[in-house]
Amino acid sequence: MSVSTSMKLKNLCNLLAEKPNCDILRIYLSRHDTSLLRHAILVTIHRRWSANPPYRLTEMGITTYDRLEVNQGQPIMPGPHAQNLLRHVWSLHLIIRPYAHLESTASGLDPFHFGTTIFVSEEGALDLLHQIWHQPMDDQRPSNGFRPIIYMSFGDNDRVGKARKAAFDFDPTNFTTTIAVLDAQIIPQQTKITRRADATFEYLLQQFKISVFHVENAGNAAMYATIIAFLSALRFDLYASLENKVGKPGRKGHSSSKAARSVIQALMEWPTPAPPFGGTVYCWRCGSDAHNFVECPNTDLVCSRCEGAIHQWRKENAGTHMEGLCVFR
Ligand SMILES: [Zn+2]
Ligand SMILES: [Zn+2]
Repeated sequence: MSVSTSMKLKNLCNLLAEKPNCDILRIYLSRHDTSLLRHAILVTIHRRWSANPPYRLTEMGITTYDRLEVNQGQPIMPGPHAQNLLRHVWSLHLIIRPYAHLESTASGLDPFHFGTTIFVSEEGALDLLHQIWHQPMDDQRPSNGFRPIIYMSFGDNDRVGKARKAAFDFDPTNFTTTIAVLDAQIIPQQTKITRRADATFEYLLQQFKISVFHVENAGNAAMYATIIAFLSALRFDLYASLENKVGKPGRKGHSSSKAARSVIQALMEWPTPAPPFGGTVYCWRCGSDAHNFVECPNTDLVCSRCEGAIHQWRKENAGTHMEGLCVFR
């Protein structure tokens, strides 16, 4: 029976700190392991903030991957383009209710392609993150401690989150359960998919011949970051062969049987369970839980405070909410 203690978590953290991000992910995903690492959960977070001050968290994408759920933690063949692993990534998208209208357009917000969008309060979002970072090793025995968490983000998304601590106070590095912090933008640089440390989602996914849809949606961004990290870290396992010794991505090696595009399409069509909390319907114009913004019958509602504001972007945004839901007090 495995027990997790803060000392064991600290030791694991120190051990991993010596390794590059790409190696940590590859070890976690594919190496036989009997240590506490086998119990770790990989969590990718992508935050999106309003474009204008005062900056508010408007959306958050979260993906989780639980190694123990895949063949009881024993390594498996990743399959073409890591489909056998990516299928186990659980993806969700949170919209922070009070701030949803800040990024709204006439057609609403960009759609989420990999699961369910839920509307939550800021407290609800923080509570969920807290729960993700404190998962018991054994539900029946709380004294066995918490499962380790490998936290991943993309590029400066985490840094911006730290800087906006006052608006949304969440920093995973503060939790003792965090045993490693990975950057999905650095992993492809480490495995020589690109030379750059700042390559975009579009550029990186293009290297794997994957089309990008609505990356502005934080839920899609979290999933794309996870896909980039998996495919980059497992590059040689997925693509290398005698004819392709450098492991160039494409329909090569173990991934020759199908196109990456069809693997991603299957992930989009794969039924993803909705999280057991938060509402899936919310209108940020009138505050109703009975319809979504695009179906709102109250199209004449306008926030007079924003309508009379000096800033042009506030004037343009006035029709997306009524005065009672305005964040400018
Ligand atoms: Zn409405
Ligand atoms: Zn307003």
